[in-house]
Amino acid sequence: METPEKDKKSLNFIETIIEEDIQTRKNEARVHTRFPPEPNGYLHIGHAKSICLNFGLAEKYQGKCNLRFDDTNPTKEEMEYVDSIKEDVQWLGFEWNEEPFFASDYFDQLYEWAILLIKKGKAYVDDQPQELISQQRGTPTRPGIESPFRNRPVEQNLDLFEAMKRGEFPNGSKVLRAKIDMASPNMHMRDPVMYRILHADHHRTGNKWSIYPMYDYAHGQSDYLEGITHSLCTLEFEVHRPLYDWFLNQIIEEGSYRPRQIEFARLNLSYTVMSKRKLLDLVKNGVVNGWDDPRMPTIAGLRRRGYTPASIRAFADRIGVAKRDNTIDVGLLEFSVREDLNKIAPRVMAVVDPVKLVITNYPENQTEAIELINNPEDPEAGSREIPFGRELYIERDDFMIDPPKKFFRLAPDKEVRLKGAYVIHCDSYETDENGEVTTIYCTYDPETKSGTGTKQPKVKGTLHWVEAKTAVDAEVRLYDRLFNDEDPAGHKDQDFMEFLNPDSLQIKTACKLEPMLADVTAGEKFQFQRIGYFCVDKDSMPGHLIFNRTVPLRDNWTKMNN
Ligand code: ATP
Ligand code: MG
Repeated sequence: METPEKDKKSLNFIETIIEEDIQTRKNEARVHTRFPPEPNGYLHIGHAKSICLNFGLAEKYQGKCNLRFDDTNPTKEEMEYVDSIKEDVQWLGFEWNEEPFFASDYFDQLYEWAILLIKKGKAYVDDQPQELISQQRGTPTRPGIESPFRNRPVEQNLDLFEAMKRGEFPNGSKVLRAKIDMASPNMHMRDPVMYRILHADHHRTGNKWSIYPMYDYAHGQSDYLEGITHSLCTLEFEVHRPLYDWFLNQIIEEGSYRPRQIEFARLNLSYTVMSKRKLLDLVKNGVVNGWDDPRMPTIAGLRRRGYTPASIRAFADRIGVAKRDNTIDVGLLEFSVREDLNKIAPRVMAVVDPVKLVITNYPENQTEAIELINNPEDPEAGSREIPFGRELYIERDDFMIDPPKKFFRLAPDKEVRLKGAYVIHCDSYETDENGEVTTIYCTYDPETKSGTGTKQPKVKGTLHWVEAKTAVDAEVRLYDRLFNDEDPAGHKDQDFMEFLNPDSLQIKTACKLEPMLADVTAGEKFQFQRIGYFCVDKDSMPGHLIFNRTVPLRDNWTKMNN
């Protein structure tokens, strides 16, 4: 498929390559990508970028995208991670080609190819310990030293490699190395390790293997076996590309199908750590409550926090793909979810930090229904009625005993409008022994009802409120950024844990909600008017409702920093 001329300008550099390949009918003009996570942790927003890119390109060019688990490292991988990764990819809205693939399915074929390399004199068994091999690799400016085992006869290499496979040697006692060039300016070409001995159970192959292939050897060959055409990875693999090609050259004929590795810049987000190892540290040390803690940049965490697949895909689109590393403002991710929720989230009345307000001239035991529209952004969303009465709750910080000049909310002898209802005048208030306001007393003017009243005085402030008797109780979790430093992992002498934001979670247990919210279900999303976007937590249940704040209505951080 070709992109019309008018769209060509907006192609990213990978799309440009793909369109050239289609035009020259490289690999029969097929487009086949893959997303290759290692199942050693939950996916994060960086992976989401890679998922959107790989699956997105397959969609755009009517190609295919495989989900491949890169499970070459038996000791760190777990089924729990495999399941979570599948769930996350599907939740983002993508469908993989056929069944998920596993690099471990290719262990037999990879082994056969290793034998082939040995027979061609392109691989050898090295008996030296790993430290010595590393020392002998030299530096980028100084050539490496050849191993004394480098010129072993083929027959001996075959025998030893088979014995390695049979499990006859202890961990670390031997490796299989590719025989390339110990003087290459590219360190990765200095006889890299292809196989190491590891007596470890693998989540899929059990104890069949006591040798496991290294990433560099396994990856390109796996791509080849799956018919991948464009193998996208992050920039740090650029220097591995000659090795990717070298291994393929050993098994592929000139001029026939072959996959191509293309590197793009990984996503870095401000105020966020992204490496799976660091995320695992946060989980293990109990800094957060699991991989899906709403403060985690994991897809599971973002989902629980209230992010939508559409918002994450829009974010990935917005940041695009680049060839140079950079850091994206986390505010852009928050913008993307705000933008989506603004369109889809019903508006509701919720008081997070309530204080009682009594309208002294409103008849006792009377209630009336106030009609409110559900979403001004969505005409289809309609309207609902909520009860109004003599006793209400308003937000504690919407009232000040001694307000500064520009405080347009409620204060003694001031007037405000209660949203959708009446204008009220504050006559007095009561405090407890600590000086905390316990009750605010007001009077209302029945002629000022919103829309229909004969008097519509101009007042500067409009407050949200909830009727006291019918209010529903809830717990509200106010999440904020987990770190208060822009680059928590970027400090040489300080651990990223030193930059944790102590206020990343505030729990409010006495919140009051409009009655309709009594029977919400996990995952439902709302805009608490004037406060922010909230999502019903997975642990929420009738009688103990729990809401997570996804984002405040406005970007408070930018305001604070300006
Ligand atoms: P981390 O470094 O966070 O532990 P990883 O690269 O080891 O991640 P993999 O499971 O190997 O994680 O990654 C699967 C795919 O996701 C790879 O193709 C990788 O390049 C891509 N990927 C990982 N992190 C990012 C990121 N921050 N931005 C874009 N793509 C990423
Ligand atoms: Mg990796």
